[in-house]
Amino acid sequence: MDVLNDNANIPPVQLTEKSQFKFACHPGLSCFTRCCRGINITLTPYDIIRLKNRMQIPSDEFLAVYTVPHLLEKTDLPVVTLRMLDDEQKSCPFVRDDGCLVYSDRPTTCRYYPLGVGTLSNKEQQAGGFYFFVQEPHCLGFEEDREWTVAEWRKDQGVDVYDAVNAEWTDLIVRKRSIPSNIRLTEKTKNMFFTASYDIDRFRRFVFESSFLDLYNIDKQTVEKIREDEIALLQFGFRWLKWLLFKEGDFQMDEAAVKARQEKMGPHPSA
Ligand code: SF4
Ligand code: SF4
Repeated sequence: MDVLNDNANIPPVQLTEKSQFKFACHPGLSCFTRCCRGINITLTPYDIIRLKNRMQIPSDEFLAVYTVPHLLEKTDLPVVTLRMLDDEQKSCPFVRDDGCLVYSDRPTTCRYYPLGVGTLSNKEQQAGGFYFFVQEPHCLGFEEDREWTVAEWRKDQGVDVYDAVNAEWTDLIVRKRSIPSNIRLTEKTKNMFFTASYDIDRFRRFVFESSFLDLYNIDKQTVEKIREDEIALLQFGFRWLKWLLFKEGDFQMDEAAVKARQEKMGPHPSA
């Protein structure tokens, strides 16, 4: 189930939301759970929230135990993949003989399968999308009779909800890809991208336990919302990253607070 490496023997067919296909996956198939071994699953920010809550552990513990860090090609941005077990088949840590242990919280890539996504751009997805069949030889699901459109499949698998939560984050990656690769990010910016994208508990501490709320004019309603609502905090983080990477958005620094801080400690880290 590797959407990053589609089978080279099968020419990729570009699909849109309206494209139709036949597919079904169920325990009666001899291939059941074969797709959950030896795979490469890049995790999205909302994947991490769902999985760490499912495991009832903090985000930093989830990241340490269940993920491997990478730099995303062409963007210089840090991302994580799900860490496979060190067994012969490189199994997913959540696969069992009777299926996926975390099925209702499974990652975006698992929800899309047997489809892959040809673009991360939210704008292009809204314009009809670009999808393709992953179609690995061991997958017998294509021999079943259940018919779907791509749009029906996305809704049935709940991936439309995941994509909506992650939309501003995926747009950041698409935009960063279009910037010349010789423009490098500082380690500090990369760390902030990683924290706001993946380590939500640490990001919460950064917002509420540092001087962040003194330095930025954030309205009270937003502060209360992100204090209570983890998804709102995550999406606030995406907007913060947009400001950090592209200096765009509605973040405004409190000049008096910045000056006072500079006098006390030197320049702000984002400067
Ligand atoms: S049908 Fe495909 S997706 Fe379903 S278990 Fe078999 S290999 Fe996996
Ligand atoms: S998270 Fe679940 S569906 Fe995804 S690879 Fe692991 S066992 Fe399979």
